Amino acid sequence: MKDQFLWGIDLGGTKIEGTIIKTGNPPEVISRLRIPTEKENGYNHIINQIEKLIDNLRQDSNLNLKQIGLGIHGTLEPSTKTVKNANTTALNGKHFKKDLEEKLKLPVKLANDANCFALAESKFGAAYKLNPDAEVVFGVIMGTGVGGGLIVDGKIVGGKQGIAGEWGHNFLDESGGKCYCGKTGCVETVISGPALERYYHSLTGKNLTLQEINEQYKKGKHPEAAKTIDRLCSFFGKSIAQVINITDPEIVVLGGGVGNIESLYNKGVEEVKKHVFNHQLETKFIQPELGDSAGVIGAAYLWDKEYQ
Ligand SMILES: [Zn+2]
Repeated sequence: MKDQFLWGIDLGGTKIEGTIIKTGNPPEVISRLRIPTEKENGYNHIINQIEKLIDNLRQDSNLNLKQIGLGIHGTLEPSTKTVKNANTTALNGKHFKKDLEEKLKLPVKLANDANCFALAESKFGAAYKLNPDAEVVFGVIMGTGVGGGLIVDGKIVGGKQGIAGEWGHNFLDESGGKCYCGKTGCVETVISGPALERYYHSLTGKNLTLQEINEQYKKGKHPEAAKTIDRLCSFFGKSIAQVINITDPEIVVLGGGVGNIESLYNKGVEEVKKHVFNHQLETKFIQPELGDSAGVIGAAYLWDKEYQ
């Protein structure tokens, strides 16, 4: 490829992260900065913050840029080119890509952050190391929300409506209750971090983080903690088996805070086996390797033609 340096931005609900990446395998992060999103100040402020971040990266690196790759929680509606499904709701309905291009006077490519994560892990991270030629890789983010990105033959599958991989809003169980998306019982309402913490609270009246609940569980004398981790594993199996039955990935990479729960990789996988339409389960479940950088690396590589 021509460009030796790629610029990637990950726009989160609380912070915006920008990096400059020297291409290669693995790519090298040569500059990284974070600033607050301050989304409560509205749409124009978010655009100004991105401009500020880019100016800072320019100064920091003494490099200039030709284009920006940007990952967002949400996606572009292909027919209108406006943002939808973003939890930074100020972006929804806006011509974010066009507005950014006008402000920055640079071409911008924009993709769902879970798609960026999946791309990076399949091209350079954990999935790449396991099998660089894997035909289908599913990258999962299980944290505050639940998302996913589908990579086929090394490329992001966006889909007609831009929603490919969004298993977090498949229906899973009524007990999850109302979802922010307007539906009820989405995967996200059952096995996201906050959903599991709410479940534990409903059993005990106590507010613990999922990590704390998991520590209790591992000590072995806390039945409510065990019930919470069992709920995660059981519903993880039911929900991810549906994805496997449709896309049959060779590798599933489990990112996000919930993806650190050890039981997913044994109990959770056993639960998947119960629901997959096959006599055995050959899908490998692995943890990501690029850490916090996966999203920005994937965003930066949106400009690499090889990965389009
Ligand atoms: Zn939902």
